[in-house]
Amino acid sequence: MQCGYSRNDDFNGPRQEGVGLYQVYQKDGRRLDAGRAYLGDGRAWPNLRVLAGRPAQRILFEGRRASGVLVGGRRLLVRREVVVCAGAIGSPQLLMLSGIGPAAHLRELGLPVLHDAPDVGEHLQDHVDYTTNLRVRAPGLIGTNPATIVRIARSIGAFRVRGEGMLTSNAAEAGGFIRSRAELDRPDLQLHFCIGMVDDHNRRMHLSSGMALHVCVLRPASRGRVRLASSDVDDAPLIDPGFLSAPQDMALLLEGARIAQRILGAPALAAYRGRRLHGSGTEDDDGLRALIRAHADTIYHPVGTCRMGADARAVVDPRLRVRGVDGLRVADASIMPALISGNTQAPAAMIGERAAAFVLDDRD
Ligand SMILES: Cc1cc2nc3c(=O)[nH]c(=O)nc-3n(C[C@H](O)[C@H](O)[C@H](O)COP(=O)(O)OP(=O)(O)OC[C@H]3O[C@@H](n4cnc5c(N)ncnc54)[C@H](O)[C@@H]3O)c2cc1C
Repeated sequence: MQCGYSRNDDFNGPRQEGVGLYQVYQKDGRRLDAGRAYLGDGRAWPNLRVLAGRPAQRILFEGRRASGVLVGGRRLLVRREVVVCAGAIGSPQLLMLSGIGPAAHLRELGLPVLHDAPDVGEHLQDHVDYTTNLRVRAPGLIGTNPATIVRIARSIGAFRVRGEGMLTSNAAEAGGFIRSRAELDRPDLQLHFCIGMVDDHNRRMHLSSGMALHVCVLRPASRGRVRLASSDVDDAPLIDPGFLSAPQDMALLLEGARIAQRILGAPALAAYRGRRLHGSGTEDDDGLRALIRAHADTIYHPVGTCRMGADARAVVDPRLRVRGVDGLRVADASIMPALISGNTQAPAAMIGERAAAFVLDDRD
């Protein structure tokens, strides 16, 4: 409020703009995932068998019709169709391993080309994000410091028994959708406020409590790509996120980082002043750009690599069927033609629901 942003108690309501607390995907104080939310423990579904921890190596075809998948060297055959939902990185990888992708790239790796689909793996979009981390000791903040570890240990009982207490936190508890310039007609930046520091996705831990204010570009112009590193599914694919390749994304993220500085300097946060993990907070634009180049990264919303569209180059059609072959759909975040202006988990679940409806509708 002190920085001119209004309170919003429901970002998914009629108005997205404003700052407030995030809704969370939880049940009984525990984070849920789509698998448990839709299937429970799986026992209610006698027609379902889950083979966990085994990647699909490739999709099998009879002619141009998908007939099954190869898993652990075993051929699992389907009666109707194959639905790929390996995510924005895994789905293009699996399609390419199965001969559907940019022909020249597949040939380079010695893979047979079933269908030349140049957009498989292209158009990778993600919310590029810059985080201001502060080392702070103040109520409610967490870290790997001894005081927090003691608090966590004391919270385990309440969490286990009643699903209550600090361990129910999603860490990124608050945030918002804001406009970088007043004349815009909708927010172009998103904030995530975390009650602990987040350095390099927490790969780097610090013996200190603190907090982090993330800011990300909601509709990035930069595009990246996913390509195969080899013809083996166990070799991670090559991911070039293309972050900041479009100059306007850097300009907007710079503005976002300045807004984050203003928010962290607001009177309401006076008790939460602290030393920055990166930089001093007094950088000029060049200095802040250098910090952004060094530390900006994904906030985990990759999409676009099997983009849906009505045009001939689109990887899937509007009913999520892979063009150029039969009996194959993709149903995950990879099909989004453009990145949505917000978090991607619920839209990914919605894509799954639409795909299920299409499969049922299209039964012979
Ligand atoms: C750390 C993190 C935090 C996030 N936080 C949020 C959040 O707070 N809110 C929000 O809205 N979104 C969040 N997201 C984004 C959200 O999780 C994704 O947008 C969503 O899960 C995408 O769903 P999906 O079905 O496309 O892919 P995924 O959920 O990634 O599912 C794809 C699955 O396919 C598997 N797979 C890949 N290749 C193969 C193969 N060859 N064979 C078999 N299986 C394979 C993968 O292991 C994975 O389990 C977060 C993401 C991450 C990584």
